[in-house]
Amino acid sequence: MKTVSILGATGSVGTSTLDIVERHPDRYRVVALTAASNVEALAAAARRTNASLAVISDENRYAELQQALAGSDCRAAAGPSGLAEAAAGEAEWVMAAIVGCAGLEPVMAAVEAGRTVALANKEALVTAGSLMMTAADRSGSAILPVDSEHNAIFQCLGSRRCDDVRRLVLTASGGPFRTWETTAMSTATPAQAVAHPNWSMGAKISVDSATMMNKGLELIEAHHLFGLPGECIDIVVHPQSIVHSMVEFTDGSVLAQMGSADMRIPIAHTLAWPERVASGADRLDLTRCPPLEFEAPDIERFPALRLARQALDQGGAAPIVLNATNEIAVAAFLAGRITFGAIAELVADALAASRDEAPGSIAEVIALDRAARGRAEQHLVERAA
Ligand code: NAD
Ligand code: MG
Repeated sequence: MKTVSILGATGSVGTSTLDIVERHPDRYRVVALTAASNVEALAAAARRTNASLAVISDENRYAELQQALAGSDCRAAAGPSGLAEAAAGEAEWVMAAIVGCAGLEPVMAAVEAGRTVALANKEALVTAGSLMMTAADRSGSAILPVDSEHNAIFQCLGSRRCDDVRRLVLTASGGPFRTWETTAMSTATPAQAVAHPNWSMGAKISVDSATMMNKGLELIEAHHLFGLPGECIDIVVHPQSIVHSMVEFTDGSVLAQMGSADMRIPIAHTLAWPERVASGADRLDLTRCPPLEFEAPDIERFPALRLARQALDQGGAAPIVLNATNEIAVAAFLAGRITFGAIAELVADALAASRDEAPGSIAEVIALDRAARGRAEQHLVERAA
């Protein structure tokens, strides 16, 4: 029996993870589950899976969670200490599926405790990639990429050395606005932005897919996971989301990983790794697929792609500023405070002003993240005035 914990168990990746775990009660035992504020969904999942710990981040909901778990064997906890306990507790395998930089400290706790970390929370890697990879080397923690593109690359690489790699190719669906004109896109509504053509995901990553900042964050994520410089990582738009990414080797061979667009495939890969388990996903039948298309991304219509490359090249605190400003801007867009077009404008302004050096510790990452969020909020107020 492999013991597993899921950080962000009520979200899109979290519930897909539970779906696979619950298909294999003979293989996996749930230790801890966490959620931001949804007590009902958290308690229901904890009861269903016989989890021993359920953690609610919002400390004001602790009593409510205790009540919801009354009579079960599951203990309730809350706040940052509860999250740290869930991350670094007894589970061998930890799914990091909290959205945003909020997931950074729990991810680091799991990495430092030497756990096998299935990493969906790309913002943690974007903001603290070097520190996290160094910590994993030190503790012996295996970081397994859940993001479908990085999981594809991980599968294609197998045991091959990165020295033999010429180029990584990240595929991108292009999101809901792939064929839209800039003017129409600039005033797109939140409902239009979260309506992803191929994937069903949480709101934040759906908006990131619409701006293509998601692919920008993934570029930085790939750089940290696989140790290649940005110029060796290409982005190709592939609207059918069947080829999840590719690796080109020095001899000219290109390996790709394919599958239906269902996150349960990469999640199951990390869960069973190095073995395989059934994920419940539809099987791929290439004879029934639409033709597979590939095209170059348009960085004029999707400036977020250029901004993420700029942040990676700029180095220092730039990726933290990119991520923090984007998180604030996406939340403001979803709340109807700014237009879709303003998301990239805010990020561009913040990056242009970023001068801070690279952080030397997670505490410094968090301080830089908070400062960048504060400046972004201030900027929003000034724009509204
Ligand atoms: P989601 O919004 O559906 O779920 C997020 C989860 O994190 C929820 O359980 C929520 O309760 C918890 N959470 C949110 N804010 C929190 C906070 N401040 N503190 C503690 N917990 C908090 O998001 P998602 O779509 O499942 O994405 C999760 C992560 O996985 C993101 O980083 C995303 O980029 C990445 N990812 C998602 C997909 C996908 O298909 N959804 C694919 C690739 C990568
Ligand atoms: Mg992805």
